[in-house]
Amino acid sequence: MIKVKTREEIEIMRESALIVSKTLGMLAKEIKPGVSTLYLDKLAEDFIRAEGAIPGFLGLYDFPNTLCMSPNDQVVHGIPNKNPLVEGDIISIDCGALKNGFYGDHAYTFAVGEIAEETKKLLDITRKSLYVGIKEFKAGNRVGDVGYAIQKFTEDHGYGVVRELVGHGLGRKMHEDPNMPNYGKRGRGKKFVEGMVVAIEPMTNMGTHQIRQHSDGWTITTLDNKPSAHFEHDVAIVNGKPELLSTFKYVHEALGIETNEEDEFRAS
Ligand code: MG
Ligand code: MG
Repeated sequence: MIKVKTREEIEIMRESALIVSKTLGMLAKEIKPGVSTLYLDKLAEDFIRAEGAIPGFLGLYDFPNTLCMSPNDQVVHGIPNKNPLVEGDIISIDCGALKNGFYGDHAYTFAVGEIAEETKKLLDITRKSLYVGIKEFKAGNRVGDVGYAIQKFTEDHGYGVVRELVGHGLGRKMHEDPNMPNYGKRGRGKKFVEGMVVAIEPMTNMGTHQIRQHSDGWTITTLDNKPSAHFEHDVAIVNGKPELLSTFKYVHEALGIETNEEDEFRAS
């Protein structure tokens, strides 16, 4: 069942979302060759707790850490470890925070030092596909409209859209209805209404869309071991239109990236 949120609840959720946004912004300054994902995980946990929130993933379905850290060919759900990041790596960081009973949950894929041109393009297209999807998250549209838009944009660039993992409704639970696949058919699926809040999160592979689950029960990699990227935002329907609760502005400030991608989805 879809749980629509009141305006007040959406404002509470914005606070949770922004704690995640700021955590990712803090991490953006720390990511460099030689740093381990476990070190970054500890920084994030301390940061989230200092904001009066609880790490949203820690203990959720028995996940052992604060962040899902998925380098290179890992798609999502990677577990932080002591291995140092290496120049040329990419690292997908998914972060959750729980405050005042509501979750924030979003993700960004970072470059470690200089990365290959083709990998830069993968990150760029995956991030853009997220906004392509968000544009379709409006009252009267359906789940399939978001999935179709992301899939079309992604496959037009020759990349693979992961099928087995999807976005989701967000609220008092990390995963609520509806599921939000990054593929689909126009006009299919549940209809969007005022007050819905979802996490939209394209997971995009440079090669095949197929994936492999590791024996640790968590880590998922691409079947062909080519790189995979993951970008995620928390979005509400306000006045019939998509409104971002999360932002990449802290990340982009830290990285010196200028973009107006979020402008049309900001609160008015
Ligand atoms: Mg997430
Ligand atoms: Mg999510």
